[in-house]
Amino acid sequence: MSHLLIVEDDELLRDGLCAQLVHAGHSVCSASDGVQAQALLETTRVDAVILDLGLPRLDGISVLRWIRQRFSALPVLVLTARDGVEDRVQGLNAGADDYLTKPFSVAELVARLQALLRRARLPAFGGSLEVESPAAKRLRVDPALPLAWLDEEPLELTQREWSLLSLLVNNLGQVVSREDVLAVWQTQPADGATGGSNALEVYVHRLRRKLQDSGLNIRNVRGLGYMLEMDAA
Ligand code: CA
Repeated sequence: MSHLLIVEDDELLRDGLCAQLVHAGHSVCSASDGVQAQALLETTRVDAVILDLGLPRLDGISVLRWIRQRFSALPVLVLTARDGVEDRVQGLNAGADDYLTKPFSVAELVARLQALLRRARLPAFGGSLEVESPAAKRLRVDPALPLAWLDEEPLELTQREWSLLSLLVNNLGQVVSREDVLAVWQTQPADGATGGSNALEVYVHRLRRKLQDSGLNIRNVRGLGYMLEMDAA
């Protein structure tokens, strides 16, 4: 479940979107103008923003630029009223991750959002993934190659173990769902073992063994997925 912010001044559309996204399993908050959106974002952690460009008080493009300065990685899906190419280009240039032109189908909005949220949970390629545990062990995961190190000791990882570990490190202290892992695996070549959710347990088990004594633990969160956490110091 993700927490979403909908910024839309058209009350009918806003309420409709809220209802549909709640129905799709998300929790939702909403704002009817740009200033209200800023105020909400300053006090509430959200996973993604659906942002109308034509807004009173502060227009969508300004809100978008503001979001990019403060929360560089926050996924933003822009809604444009007209079928104008200019609007879309302006939105994408200002840092929108995706856009939809009104009128759009809610099914499409939900699908695009899922894709955005999934991408946001992927390892931040280009950045470095590092965790320092209470045992003062430093786990470092290469963001692009299937390599990782515990202190200076290289960990022998398969491609899937590495992408699982990258997801867990990137979402330290948060649950990574089985679906998230499987979605990433789908885009990668299998490495010997059979796919599917049964195999996931096997990979988690192997990773746990490799992280033994590291001060990091992969917790099974029943019914939800897995979470990388620090052992209590
Ligand atoms: Ca509008």
